[in-house]
Amino acid sequence: MPTLHDNACFKCGACQIACPVVDLEGIDDFSGPRSLAVEAVRFGNEISATREDIMRCTTCFRCGEVCPARIPLPERIIEVRRRIFQEGLALSGHKRIMDNIDAYGRAVEPRQERFQPFGDKGKETLYFPGCIGELRLTDIPRSTVNLLSKVGGITTPSGWLCCGAPLEKLGDWDRVKSLREGNLKVFEGFQTIVTSCPGCQTHVTQHYSLQPLHTIEYLYESRRSHARQGTKSKKLRVALHQPCHLARTIGPHVMDYAAELLQSTPGVHLVEMADADRCCGGGGGVVAGHPDVALRLAQAKVRSALEAKADLLVAPCPFCVTNIRRAGGVEVKDLVVFLDENSAKRI
Ligand code: SF4
Ligand code: SF4
Repeated sequence: MPTLHDNACFKCGACQIACPVVDLEGIDDFSGPRSLAVEAVRFGNEISATREDIMRCTTCFRCGEVCPARIPLPERIIEVRRRIFQEGLALSGHKRIMDNIDAYGRAVEPRQERFQPFGDKGKETLYFPGCIGELRLTDIPRSTVNLLSKVGGITTPSGWLCCGAPLEKLGDWDRVKSLREGNLKVFEGFQTIVTSCPGCQTHVTQHYSLQPLHTIEYLYESRRSHARQGTKSKKLRVALHQPCHLARTIGPHVMDYAAELLQSTPGVHLVEMADADRCCGGGGGVVAGHPDVALRLAQAKVRSALEAKADLLVAPCPFCVTNIRRAGGVEVKDLVVFLDENSAKRI
């Protein structure tokens, strides 16, 4: 756990400049990582005074990446959020997530359509769809199962629970622990765990001591054939959003794989998009706590895609797809769904 008291910061300002929320809101409206993770704690500010500000951080990890003093700014922010939760100061939108976890074992409330557990194909590979995949964007797990089945036997067992990632960002560590214990029983015996969600992947890596793969990694590493479906004369201009957890936590290699898989898809012209790795606003509990901030970050992402003249914006993350779609203005799709629709003989 990071210590909250040290004097390593030499006020270079790099974290403030890198922060997408400072850039979006301006320093008068969002005080930024240095203020929240270094100064507020050093000067003993009341936890309650930082609550609104700190809940607008998307936990994108950009500030931690650029800090030359290597101060773990995002981890400190998460630690302050734990204190806020302990003092009973959770935002109402965040309380809804906790209620959903208690009632359904999922971060969101179930609706009629739901991805069903997928067979029992042994203990080789477990597919973990995550809450948004199972209950909101069911095309993601369907496409994932379709593609993964072509390269090996997979199982989605019943009894799994939310991985705990959303609650970690909200500071609710008791529930995080109980979800982890439940999931570890379900995961027992499987050789490989695959997930569609970079947030689940990061959380399970950091808090379960396991090494799950993102679907993109699994598909890339299992490719058997580059056979083409024929060339299409008109190329679809596709922009690739880089989810924070893949670009900065799991590792940029996943985004290299994603770009390569897209480039090898017939009819695709992968376009460069400015700030492709800038947070879309989908993480850190900001959609639930401060939806206006999440929406404006999504709108900035759509602007980047449109400036690149993209016909389609793809992202290998259910949270990113959900949030960017809220902005409208461009078609947005999960990368695995797009690959499945265009796969036939490719994987
Ligand atoms: S984690 Fe991202 S949003 Fe949060 S303070 Fe750091 S740079 Fe800003
Ligand atoms: S980047 Fe690091 S050293 Fe520079 S102001 Fe931010 S916290 Fe301080």
